Amino acid sequence: MTRFRIPFNKPSFAGDEKRYIADAIERGHISGDGHYTKLCHALLEQALGAHKVLLTTNCTHALEMTGFLLDLQPGDEVIVPSFAFVTTANAYAVRGAKPTFVDVRPDTLNLDEKLVERAITPRTKAIIALHYAGIACEMDALLALGRKHGIEVIEDNAHGLFGRYKQRWLGTLGALGTQSFHETKNFTCGEGGALLVNDARYAERAEIIREKGTNRSRFLRGEVHKYSWVDLGSSYLPTDMLAAFLLAQLEARERIQKRRGEIWRRYARELAGWAKELGATLPVVPEGCDPSWHLFYMLLPRASMREAFLDHLGARGILGVFHYLPLHLSDMGQRYGGRAGDCPVAEDTSSRLVRLPFFNSLTESEQGEVIETVASFHG
Ligand SMILES: *Cc1c(COP(=O)(O)O)cnc(C)c1O
Repeated sequence: MTRFRIPFNKPSFAGDEKRYIADAIERGHISGDGHYTKLCHALLEQALGAHKVLLTTNCTHALEMTGFLLDLQPGDEVIVPSFAFVTTANAYAVRGAKPTFVDVRPDTLNLDEKLVERAITPRTKAIIALHYAGIACEMDALLALGRKHGIEVIEDNAHGLFGRYKQRWLGTLGALGTQSFHETKNFTCGEGGALLVNDARYAERAEIIREKGTNRSRFLRGEVHKYSWVDLGSSYLPTDMLAAFLLAQLEARERIQKRRGEIWRRYARELAGWAKELGATLPVVPEGCDPSWHLFYMLLPRASMREAFLDHLGARGILGVFHYLPLHLSDMGQRYGGRAGDCPVAEDTSSRLVRLPFFNSLTESEQGEVIETVASFHG
């Protein structure tokens, strides 16, 4: 940590976190679904227009809940972009489902919608749309494929909260969407997540799965006289103290997103000339996409340049990092049949990608220093 004056990420506080946590403790309900959890649910449901929002212990667990909801069985298949976080595939693999890795688009690094249909088989149960960097996948095409083949589209929206696709909130377009409130995301409570239930048919079972397979939520609403074991499930409720922390962050969403938008646009504006000269590419935002400003990445012209670039930043106290390794080439991915050459765009771009420091409290002068340092790299 001390080696880098400007870290890649730093958790930032919105202001009311400690006060809300103290209040949650005083209220005497520190397990799940207390006062602050309900406020987070209501805030997200209203802000996004989602049918139902359920906080979870993390995004991985929200993804696992979608596997429960789809009743995934061993041998079922789930379409996942190769350029993705491990959890995006692992959450389904733990159920015995097989991840089918599909390549990404060279412009957005999102699932290439043109390659999805040929990967669909009679055992395919879902398409997982990950909005990389909070820039939307081509959702109209993916949703049309889902309808045509009778399979669900699930959004791994860990990056995309408050980003939009054709004016609609990311996370609310598929039948189900998942959020992460991990320390590295735009809004955080350290570790946390949420499931967005957009298709009302999944709402009641989502509550049951989240509550150890019981109908406790209905009991608490007075809809049944006692609660009991009615289905399979697990335990995915975060403590109300974390929800209190999260509420403070979500209430500051306009300020946080405005600042992140400024940081993102300044990087794009002030690095454009340098990128052009070096042959690097900056993120592409397709028509109709409003990014969530989750991260700022660049593609260097050659993979062999990346180490020198990151060393150049590191020598000046700035931490730049790369990102996902293609999942189909991981040890686990190879067990599912992944081979070099299967997803050439993911293989190529992931080896050239770098991300710059990006967090809510990054100061103007710190960002100026990052930009100057990047611009002084000539390969
Ligand atoms: C962070 C992240 C997750 C997992 O989030 P957790 O809350 O840490 O489980 C899943 N998918 C993507 C794309 C992520 O970036």
